[in-house]
Amino acid sequence: MRILIAEDDEVLADGLARSLRQSGYAVDSVKTGSEADSALTASEFDLLILDIGLPRMNGLEVLRRLRGRDSRVPVLLLTALDGVDDRVRGLDLGADDYLAKPFQLAELEARVRALTRRGAAGAPTLLKNGALSYDQVGKVAHVNGDMLELSARELALLEILIQRPGRMVSKEQLVDHLCQWGEEVSTNAIEVYVHRLRKKLEPSQVRISTVRGLGYFMDRNP
Ligand code: CA
Repeated sequence: MRILIAEDDEVLADGLARSLRQSGYAVDSVKTGSEADSALTASEFDLLILDIGLPRMNGLEVLRRLRGRDSRVPVLLLTALDGVDDRVRGLDLGADDYLAKPFQLAELEARVRALTRRGAAGAPTLLKNGALSYDQVGKVAHVNGDMLELSARELALLEILIQRPGRMVSKEQLVDHLCQWGEEVSTNAIEVYVHRLRKKLEPSQVRISTVRGLGYFMDRNP
């Protein structure tokens, strides 16, 4: 799950990014509306956390353009406490939810969970492949009822693969989903995460197959 935070208050943006990363999301952040607009045009996100009061194009304009491109990415608006008009306009423009500042991190995380769940329209919460199950909301994986100890990246990798059983996911797609902007993550690093995840999946009969030079897919041992 990849989240874009568009927020010019650096302290708030850093705090949000840190806490969402700890919860296993890949997070990118931008500080202006025009950067947000470019980022949303260039990359795919699973959720946008959008401050309304942004320099160089306000959040509502970013939202209007986003929906104008027919993007259905869920949007959580951050508004000033007294920003009732902005909230109404935001919802009219296609925002999915809003939070008035100041808010508790726990509340933001609850909204994020709800919106990312909704984003996977109609998708089941619990994904299964043989003895392996993955709870998309709780972000935990089990094999035969035993919880797997996975790092945030291994978990993100497992999530992408189990959502596309039998379909190839390219290394570039994995890099795109797993990594945050500005951070150099090589395809070699992806190989390391895949290697580790494979080991942990050994008891499950689910395997991660390699399509040489191209990518990976998840299937089951016959
Ligand atoms: Ca602001």
